[in-house]
Amino acid sequence: MKAKVPVAVLGATGTVGQKFVRLLADHPWFEITALAASDQSAGRLYGEVVRWRETTALPERIAAMTVARSVPPLPARIAFSALDADVAQPIEQAFAKCSLWVVTNTRAHRMDPDVPLIIPEINASHLELVERQRAGRGWPGAILANPNCSTAGLVLALAPLQRAFGLEKVFVTTMQSVSGAGYPGVPSLDILGNVVPLIGGEEEKMERETRKILGALADGMVEPAPITVSAQCNRVATVEGHMEVVSVGLGRRATPDEAIAALREFRGPKSVQGLPSSPTSPVEVDARPDRPQPRLDLERGRGMTVTVGRVRPCPLLDLRFVLLSHNTIRGAAGAAVQIAELLVAEGRVS
Ligand code: NAP
Repeated sequence: MKAKVPVAVLGATGTVGQKFVRLLADHPWFEITALAASDQSAGRLYGEVVRWRETTALPERIAAMTVARSVPPLPARIAFSALDADVAQPIEQAFAKCSLWVVTNTRAHRMDPDVPLIIPEINASHLELVERQRAGRGWPGAILANPNCSTAGLVLALAPLQRAFGLEKVFVTTMQSVSGAGYPGVPSLDILGNVVPLIGGEEEKMERETRKILGALADGMVEPAPITVSAQCNRVATVEGHMEVVSVGLGRRATPDEAIAALREFRGPKSVQGLPSSPTSPVEVDARPDRPQPRLDLERGRGMTVTVGRVRPCPLLDLRFVLLSHNTIRGAAGAAVQIAELLVAEGRVS
């Protein structure tokens, strides 16, 4: 059997970091060899310092690991970054300079022109940007990013429509769960029985990242897709799972049934379909009139499937629908693990 690839988790004590630990604990290709966090946590046992909030037990081997400082070198080929966004940039760059493949959840590098912003089913070809990045920045490692949690679900529903009918306009309103704000996140007195109509920077991220992911690669650059995106983001009192209501203006008219067929048929390239984290269907359409719901539909495809419902005509644009995606799996840790699997499958990391 081939040896597993040694991987590190940066920000291992946080909400997304814990999700990484859970997904990587018995991964067929990867083995956790380092856990890092802030200087306050460094030097202590992971099991003592982490407020473990996953529903599966923390494996003893992992609990007994000593948390490292977030500085290179660490004994790993890949570093998954779930760092606080405000501190991530220099730390991620330091690891790329030290030959690691950094797959990041943070916003720090997502919009850098030489950093691939990847959803493997949609734009695996954007990995090519890595060559330009390495040449331009002169580092032996690389930085790759997965999208913001609300963007990930949206783009998985948009890509099949863009391919089948063309896509010109997107109007999206989100209802985002509190886990999207990390831990301890939004104070309970602000969110219980309430809706907060602001998630700082989120609307801009959704608008920019969507165009980059759906953009075309030409001459080593990504040309953003010419789509007008209008996003309004709200924090609601659910724990996990982001709901989004979406209206789309298409390049050519399509009936709801045609859109449903395009969504259901959507698959990534063959090389992506076989990855351990890839779900059988990246997008499922649930025809029941009151679905999807976070409590009932979040775990589809082990959190990697986006569920779409209520596809119907829109009196303003062409079609409207609702979607649900798992913000800490498809929108964070699961997305990054899938990107790393793609790197291994393509022979870039061994
Ligand atoms: P979180 O729960 O607040 O965790 C932050 C992590 O960063 C902790 O492990 C913390 O370690 C570490 N950290 C803080 N300051 C540090 C420093 N100066 N040096 C090194 N490590 C430091 O946040 P989260 O929700 O997991 O989010 C992590 C990242 O993923 C953020 O950039 C976020 O924007 C992004 N993201 C989150 C979601 C989501 O749904 N939650 C989705 C997509 C992307 P200590 O415990 O030692 O302080």
